[in-house]
Amino acid sequence: MFVLDSHCDTPTQMMRGLDLGAGSGCGHVDIDKLKRGGVDASFFALYTSAELAPDESTRYTLEMLGKIYDALDTYKDSIALATSPAEALRNKDRGLISIFIGMENGSPIQKSLSLLRMYYRFGVRYMTLTHNGDNEIADAAAEGRRWHGLSPFGREVIEEMNRLGMIVDVAHVSDDTFYDVIKCSKAPVVSTHSCCRALASHPRNMTDDMIRSMADKGGVIQINFYPAFLSDSYQERMPSVSDIADHIDHAVKVGGIDHFGI
Ligand SMILES: [Zn+2]
Repeated sequence: MFVLDSHCDTPTQMMRGLDLGAGSGCGHVDIDKLKRGGVDASFFALYTSAELAPDESTRYTLEMLGKIYDALDTYKDSIALATSPAEALRNKDRGLISIFIGMENGSPIQKSLSLLRMYYRFGVRYMTLTHNGDNEIADAAAEGRRWHGLSPFGREVIEEMNRLGMIVDVAHVSDDTFYDVIKCSKAPVVSTHSCCRALASHPRNMTDDMIRSMADKGGVIQINFYPAFLSDSYQERMPSVSDIADHIDHAVKVGGIDHFGI
């Protein structure tokens, strides 16, 4: 068995001072918790807010990358970078937990395919096209007014991500963007952290048709544990493990067992 978590916001916590090796109890993820949880690999998300100006988002992302690389140096007896499935399996054989790197929000590439390629060279292996704001690439689920899907530049981005082997992540995009990506991408696409809209109406969640379209292309929906995505009544009643299981059961029923994850 190999356990992979496709999205954690730990780099944001590292920017706030989290030391991955200190077992500080702050945030959900550190090396001790990854070990105790039996996690073999985790995608660390380079999240940037849609509020940041373009240059600021590029700089902030570079600093997060720097902090990840610093931690990889400091804790090389426990964790190692992975940029491919083969590397992750090799790390596991050596007793190391793999850190994959994803980028949450395409704003840091601004309007430059060269910047996209630079982040790929730094180890970024998926890019969530947007966060909660429309950007140069595409419209977001939380807005969705600028392009009504992918922008012309966004189409070039998808083509280049396919060529590089960088995974296209549709968590956070608008429904229009989702269907544009399904049409444009030559490779399977994923949602690294979304749930089922049939069970909770949040616009970040995926309809049954979206889950099926993604599965038909060989992609996966990675179920999110965040309360607002699990239940519409999360403010009156804290979601539990059984809510998560309901979303997993639904995703498996709609898309098939090979097309869901966590
Ligand atoms: Zn997110």
